[in-house]
Amino acid sequence: MSTDSQTLPPPPVPIFTGAGLDRVAQLRRDPNEVRALLRDPEARALFASDQGVLVSRDGSSLSRRELSESVASGRDGEPVLLGLERGRPLFGCDLEALAPAAVAALLDSGGLVSLREAGVTLPRAEGGLGAYLAALIGWHRHHRYCPNCGARTEVVEAGLSRLCPRCGRSHFPRTDPVVIMVVQHDDQLLLGRRLGWPAGRYSLLAGFVAAGETPEEAVVREVREEADIETDHPRYVAAQPWPFPASLMLGFASVSPGGEPHADDGEMADVRWFARERVLAAVHQEADWSAQAAQPDELLLPSRVSIARSLIEWWLEARAVSGPAA
Ligand SMILES: [Zn+2]
Repeated sequence: MSTDSQTLPPPPVPIFTGAGLDRVAQLRRDPNEVRALLRDPEARALFASDQGVLVSRDGSSLSRRELSESVASGRDGEPVLLGLERGRPLFGCDLEALAPAAVAALLDSGGLVSLREAGVTLPRAEGGLGAYLAALIGWHRHHRYCPNCGARTEVVEAGLSRLCPRCGRSHFPRTDPVVIMVVQHDDQLLLGRRLGWPAGRYSLLAGFVAAGETPEEAVVREVREEADIETDHPRYVAAQPWPFPASLMLGFASVSPGGEPHADDGEMADVRWFARERVLAAVHQEADWSAQAAQPDELLLPSRVSIARSLIEWWLEARAVSGPAA
């Protein structure tokens, strides 16, 4: 791709982005204000469990429900304030913290779908809201005890964080940065297949940012470790919340001087350069990871829910705009 950003298409807008709520950082610090929001007749709640998010019966949106007395009083569902949606309070509740009868009634009026499915089927902003909901509810469910002293922690700021009453430490929802990168050489894209993946399934290389490392340094290190390939000047393109359980995918693009890739880090089964035409054909075939490779050499690209797919399609578009690399 050209280094001239003027010739590049706009960055992709991945699924799970665009929740667009006012998260009311100031207001949520006042317990009286939060109590008033819980009692607001306009308040609604969204629901999630480890299995997914509750969607409306027709599957067109997340299911927004009035708060029951037991939820509004905080006795049930452990409601956390997601924010204000067009001025209306919106809370998130953990289905696993609700009474069984309440769960049964909710499931009667909507469906629990996996977040990945919700991301693909719901409008983008609803998918973004679902990712926010799942990330926050999931973090609270798995962080009820202080990692410092073991005491049970308390929800503060209406769910923005938790506080340990014994040692006084605050705990905030954790987000683990992961870099995922378009690496190109001439008109080719570097893709890898992890150990255990079926034949034909390839994706962009990716990996966690290590302690004491910048995302750009992580890109260079991961490409070196996973493919034995050098790459220069990674440039940020776009990001995606990926609450499975707590990642933030940071998409980069970089140019490599090329070379023969070697999958010798113990994680990858194969890493290779794919010509643009081959990647384009795989996109047009509409075959993705949900399919089995029809031919032994068929290329299966990641699902549309992932930023990997968004970045691959962006790369194809960028090449179309800027022409072959100099
Ligand atoms: Zn503690």
